[in-house]
Amino acid sequence: MEPVLETAMRQFHQAADRIELRDEMRELLTSFKTVYQTDFPVNMDNGSTKVFSGYRVHHNSARGPMKGGIRFSSIVSLDEIKALAMWMTWKCAVVNVPFGGAKGGVICDPGTLSSSELQDLTRRFTSEIAPIIGPDRDIPAPDMGTNAQIMAWMMDTYSMEQGYTIPGIVTGKPVAIGGSEGRFEATGRGLLYVLQEHLAAEGGVRDRTVSVQGFGNVGGVAAKLLCEAGARVQYISDVATALHHPEGIDALAAFAHVQAGGTLRTWLDEHPNAAEEVAHEDVLTADVDVLVPAAVESVLTEHNAGDVRAKLIIEGANGPTTSDADAILNERGVMLIPDTLANAGGVTVSYFEWVQARQYLHWSEEQVNAELRRVMTDAYHNVISRCPLNSGGMCTQREAAQWIGVERVVEAIELRGIFP
Ligand code: NAD
Repeated sequence: MEPVLETAMRQFHQAADRIELRDEMRELLTSFKTVYQTDFPVNMDNGSTKVFSGYRVHHNSARGPMKGGIRFSSIVSLDEIKALAMWMTWKCAVVNVPFGGAKGGVICDPGTLSSSELQDLTRRFTSEIAPIIGPDRDIPAPDMGTNAQIMAWMMDTYSMEQGYTIPGIVTGKPVAIGGSEGRFEATGRGLLYVLQEHLAAEGGVRDRTVSVQGFGNVGGVAAKLLCEAGARVQYISDVATALHHPEGIDALAAFAHVQAGGTLRTWLDEHPNAAEEVAHEDVLTADVDVLVPAAVESVLTEHNAGDVRAKLIIEGANGPTTSDADAILNERGVMLIPDTLANAGGVTVSYFEWVQARQYLHWSEEQVNAELRRVMTDAYHNVISRCPLNSGGMCTQREAAQWIGVERVVEAIELRGIFP
């Protein structure tokens, strides 16, 4: 399988070729401003001490402080974090929020850690990366395996070390300590807004059949909001269980169950008529109108892209499609709305949260969602203006988003100049 950093680099070079980017700018934009690795000890409940490895990577800061999630997962690697940091640079530029790109992660399986082990790991990792993060420098957020509680511990640790409360150090915090209304749902909601805009001329989202891979913050929320908007969510899945119902699954009920600590397996056990279990691959090759890969990267590859039957793919996860799969899907006429646009709702509301934190203001959920819709709609039309829907395969939405992202970063670099 194509390594994820290779996917990110290939996407960049394809865009760079089309906009005839000069070599020194390519070199700058394929390098990383800061690569930070730390091995650190955590006291475990059984009295032992275990060493964990973590990373924080800054890709580019030309457009502003750097922004990116923290991932807790057993498959975290430095190359993966680099790819994700680079995608954050383009994503922030595509939705035009004044941030650069960063990403971080710790190699661990959060599901096997107790709450106190998780808290100690989070606090020690925060302390280790404290020299390179900051509300004006690099602002972490939740990603796979992390959540609002972990952001609260990060904010508290950083604040305690500085001696006063600094709510702008992370986003995705609980609302009670300066988090934004609407942040929890922002990525899934942003995806819905983009999809609604894309389908506006063809009758909208109502009655569309949908398949969603991943049932966490992005996939679970997206499935729930799509259900509420009248779509028929026929397939959902988490890491262990894939479900199907031809009439549509009650994703609201399933998500409430998962939010309360359950899994799709325990939900199915409690509601055996709600869906039937299917193979994981069926979720990706389902005969539906819209496929939403919202779990992990590199799930659509050269091996299964030819079997995809959805007419439209909208990427909830970062990097779910390899470059080879991209080429196959494009060749087959499958429309794809790329991650740097489709899942940018999370970083957009993170930006709103950071603005509120710095001004000690609190926006209503209506205000957050209205602003989110405006930003996502503008970004969608910007991308479409660069690669019209009737372009006949001459360009893809991914290329158009990448051109916009790279051009905006290049403009910032050129305006600022190279120090000294
Ligand atoms: P999460 O940890 O909340 O949820 C991940 C979900 O995917 C879980 O349901 C998990 O069981 C499932 N999963 C994991 N591996 C799977 C597999 N192989 N097959 C099927 N399901 C699998 O994570 P999340 O925050 O929803 O992030 C998902 C993706 O979206 C990641 O690529 C992340 O980088 C990206 N993303 C997240 C945000 C955000 O705001 N959380 C924003 C933008 C992009």
